[in-house]
Amino acid sequence: MRTHRIALIPGDGIGAEVLPAATAVLHAAGRRHGFTLAYDSFDWSCERYLREGAMMPADGLERIRHHDAILLGAVGWPGVPDHVSLWGLLIPIRRTFRQYVNLRPITVLDGVPGPLRTATADVDLVVVRENVEGEYSEIGGRLNRGFPEEMAVQESVFTRAGVTRVVDYAFDLAARRRGVLTSATKSNGIIHTMPFWDEIVAERARLGVTWSQEHIDALAAKLVLHPERFDVIVASNLFGDILSDLAAAVAGGIGVAPAANLNPEREFPSMFEPVHGSAPDIAGTGVANPVGAIWSAAMMLDHLGHPEAGDEVRAAFRAVLAGTAIRTPDLGGRATTGEFTREVVQRLEPAG
Ligand code: ATP
Ligand code: MG
Repeated sequence: MRTHRIALIPGDGIGAEVLPAATAVLHAAGRRHGFTLAYDSFDWSCERYLREGAMMPADGLERIRHHDAILLGAVGWPGVPDHVSLWGLLIPIRRTFRQYVNLRPITVLDGVPGPLRTATADVDLVVVRENVEGEYSEIGGRLNRGFPEEMAVQESVFTRAGVTRVVDYAFDLAARRRGVLTSATKSNGIIHTMPFWDEIVAERARLGVTWSQEHIDALAAKLVLHPERFDVIVASNLFGDILSDLAAAVAGGIGVAPAANLNPEREFPSMFEPVHGSAPDIAGTGVANPVGAIWSAAMMLDHLGHPEAGDEVRAAFRAVLAGTAIRTPDLGGRATTGEFTREVVQRLEPAG
């Protein structure tokens, strides 16, 4: 039987509540498809930072580089600045392991009410966000603190190799889906990096994929008004970050949204994590929605070479949402994380 070694990082708050839901579902999927998952768990978190002064140990990345994948719950906690959890854990993992694609599927699920008035039954899109360069750089600084001439400068870094590989990934994905790619730009205002991005998108275009570019402001509006018109959206780090949260909200909430940080070449492990944060307001009460984590685990199954198992997991939680009233309070129900998860697991177990 094939065994996949998975690094588990529950993190903070509800991260530790939704990951057991994901592993329970993975176990059931493995039994159906003849594979097992072996986990090593790491307590890297804001809690560890408060105790030991670092989110992870100095040799942390070395310890997980040979795992087949990383499953992460959520990191972040009140009193710990976001840049600590980001630059102390998430960004080093993404960059060192060359996880340059952040993949965020957005699908409206039956039984999950969204905020839109228009019918959105056909919303099924994927945001491909560049995940390791672009606007999120450490280059820049502040001058003249406290004086009237005070200023801040923040540089963006776009490399030909970095843009090309994520754009190619997005074109490939569009070719395997409905063949429509939209590129997010802002070349009318950002006059160096964005025209460079646009040029590379035009160069990498291929037969079989209809592509267009839209300015980020207009694209954001269209994503609210006509989400069903999109198939694959490719965007820089900042624009992709914003669009994927926007699109997740359109689809019915942050609790159900999944994400994958992919190293498509498989030189290093890829990382799978729900979009939501540690939700301190509900942490410890057992009612966190596990769908984002379960869906992220399904994406991990796709990546590990078990796409049929991934499809079954997605079908199972969709069936619970569409066919029963069992759901967590964020979706208007009264179920606990465990009760919802048991329903999903049951649908993956052999009848009898
Ligand atoms: P981050 O940690 O990324 O900064 P955040 O603090 O902006 O995230 P979250 O921690 O995701 O946001 O919480 C935002 C709101 O959504 C909170 O009210 C939280 O309770 C709710 N929420 C987030 N995830 C879930 C979930 N899985 N189930 C139920 N509610 C959730
Ligand atoms: Mg937070």
